[in-house]
Formats: sequence, C-alpha cells, structure tokens
Amino acid sequence: MNYKAGDLIKVKTKEGVYKGTYIPRKGNSIVIKLESGYNIGIDKNKIDNISLVRKQKKIKQKKEKIKQNNKLPTISILHTGGTIASKVDYRTGAVHSEFSPEEILRMFPELKEIANIRSRLIFQMFSEDMGPEHWEILAKEVKKEIEKKVDGIIITHGTDIIHYTSAALSFMLQNLPIPVLLVGAQRSSDRGSSDASLNLINASYFISKTSFNGVAICMHENTEDNSCLILPGTKTRKMHTSRRDAFKAVNDIPIAKVDYKKNIIENIKKIKENNESLISNIGFEKKIALIKIRPGFSHKELEFYKNYKGIIFEGTGLGHLAVSVLDKHTKEHKKTLDMIKKLSKKIPIFMASQCIFGRVDMNVYSSGRDLQEAGVIALEDMLSETAYVKLGWLLSFEKNQKKIKELMLKNIAGEISERTQLNEFL
Ligand code: ASP
Repeated sequence: MNYKAGDLIKVKTKEGVYKGTYIPRKGNSIVIKLESGYNIGIDKNKIDNISLVRKQKKIKQKKEKIKQNNKLPTISILHTGGTIASKVDYRTGAVHSEFSPEEILRMFPELKEIANIRSRLIFQMFSEDMGPEHWEILAKEVKKEIEKKVDGIIITHGTDIIHYTSAALSFMLQNLPIPVLLVGAQRSSDRGSSDASLNLINASYFISKTSFNGVAICMHENTEDNSCLILPGTKTRKMHTSRRDAFKAVNDIPIAKVDYKKNIIENIKKIKENNESLISNIGFEKKIALIKIRPGFSHKELEFYKNYKGIIFEGTGLGHLAVSVLDKHTKEHKKTLDMIKKLSKKIPIFMASQCIFGRVDMNVYSSGRDLQEAGVIALEDMLSETAYVKLGWLLSFEKNQKKIKELMLKNIAGEISERTQLNEFL
C-alpha cells in the first residue's frame, strides 16, 4: 500500500465499491472515511482492487494575526483531547498535536465576537485513558491560567470521564475566582450533527456574561442544536452513550441554560458571590476502590482490597449488599459482613447507590442497618463517581480516619445536597 493518510481511494470488493479518505491503521482491514463522515473497515482479504482517485490535498493555511479586542473578555482554552477536536484527526488519519488559537478560531469563527482566545495543548488523549495524575497536572495548569488573570477557562475534554475530571478540579481548586467550564462533544466536528461548535460557543458566551465562579460542564440541553446547560461539577453524569444531550444533573438542577444565538442566559440556580481566596490542594491517593455490588458478590472479592486505603461501595437500592443469611444459598453472606467489619476497623468504607438518582438511606432495611453497624457510612445523595474522587483527594492529605469520615459527609464542593427536590430527576 503506497497510499498516504488523507488520499482519496477507491476500494473494490465483491460486495461493492467504496470511495473514501484513506486512514492508516494497523491490522487486517483498510480503513476509509466515507463522504458521509463514517469510517468503515474493509477486510484486506476481501479486496479485489484498490485505486487512487486523488492525492491528499495540501491545505495551505494562512497565518492570520489575531487582533486583541480590549472590550472582550479573555478566555483560555486548555485542550486535553477527545472527540471535540477530532476534525484534524479524521482528515489526515493522524493525531494533530497543534491546538493553536488560530486553528480554534478557524474551526469556530463565532468565538472571535465573544472573547479573546488563548489556547494551550495540555494532553492529546481519549479521556478514558486519563487518571488521577492527569487531574493533578490539569489542576496546576488551571491555577497557572488564573494567575495570568484570564476571565474564564474552557477545558476541552473527552466526554467519557469528563464528570470525574470536573469533580477532581472542584475539590482540588476551591473558591475559584472565575468560571472553569469543561466542554466535550459526542460527535466529531466533521459530522453535520456535531455538537462541538455549539458546546464551545455557548460555553464562551456564558463565560463572557456570567458572574458564576466555579467548575461546571457545558453540553447540549436537548436533541435540538440550540441551547446548552451549564451543569454542576460534582453532580453531573454521562447518561447516554451517544446522544448529544447525554449529560444530566443528578440530584441537582443545572446552573444555567445558554443559547448564544438568541443572546439568552437563563440562570436556573442562584449564582453565589465569591469573595474568598483560592484554595488549592492538589493530590490524589490512588489506592482506593469503587466497587459495584451485584447479585453473586462474594466476600472473597473483598480480600483483594485488604491493603487499600478506602472503599466506596456502589450498593443496590437505598445502599445495600448481600449480608443477610436466609437459606442454605445465603450462608456465605455472613462472611461478607464479617469481612466488612474487619476491614472498616482499618480503613474508611462508604456507601453510594447504583440507582444514580436519590439518597442512600441505610436505616430502612435490616441489611442497611447491619452494614452501618459493621462500619459502613452512607454518603447521602453523592454520586459514586464523585465519592471516589473525593475520597482519593481527601486521603492524599488527611490521614486521620475520624476526620476523613467527617469530611466525606461535609459538603465541600456542592457534592451533597441537604434536601432532594422533586425537579431533580430526568
Ligand atoms: N472516548 C472519547 C473520550 O472520552 C469520547 C469523546 O471524546 O467524547 O475521549
């Protein structure tokens, strides 16, 4: 194969002829991007013939000088990767590491009217590959931008774990003086239905007009391509694999609704003033577990975590796991309870719910009460993902078990709400 990334080629098989842009990939298939924007892989053994239609067009990009407009706010875009900037990736088949302000303004020209844009490439990765070390680096980069006195920060990010990153930044950097918005896209910029542009422009528009300070996520409100929601950094979750409105506030309401085309910003939550100085506490203890409970869960699985520093269970319903002995098949459950009792003397163990919405209440059923007696602490209405991030963060600087338990139940960054409101459900 002498074709280069970006060449237009025609692949003939018994089933048909496929024309598209060549994307080099390892393996037994030839991958091409069809005109529809979709990629297909064609088994090399099934190919009768490949021909070149046209060599890759060299796109000459004019280096235009960006003029600063003193009347506009300054927004820093920190890019970490993901679908939101994958246009460049798809055209050439290669990962493009440049994410300059010129390039961003070329891709999203509306931004010029809203703000002076700066940008830096922090990572170029799928968000599922990110870990606590990346959150620490990112928090330090956000701090640097704040010190440069920008008016707001946008972090472009893969959608898969964007809500973990937003929780991590919410704990690591408290009392932010400016808005820090994480923005992703479910569909890449080279698809007609891409949400990249609307999410990014609405996020910039919100930053340019709001007095909100803190970490939030900006994504599509619904299936139409008009408005976005500004969602709380510690109480938001990806609830759909592919829909553009996949992100929902959980046990909370959105902060605001934004529609830049109609010049609308509707504050849904009361925006609080912040006069306190920035607290930065950047660190993460990785030896903690988030365990999803399921039927058939065995005490033997807990053995693995005996040297861990903390555990979050994502229990069933109100916060349960199998600890009741009811017949010959449930005898082993006592061992699970005993093991939890033993572990909780050494490490903190908490309970969130896999129901996602609602509050953990371990006083209703005997299994909940038994677990509490064994030392498990109910995490109110905190999301399990947020609880995982909070515990890792807390353990990086606090070693006192009593203090850790107290702080897990103290609302630090909006992760626990006192009361559950009726409108806090899908
Ligand atoms: N898996 C991708 C990621 O999270 C999806 C996306 O970019 O939205 O990086």
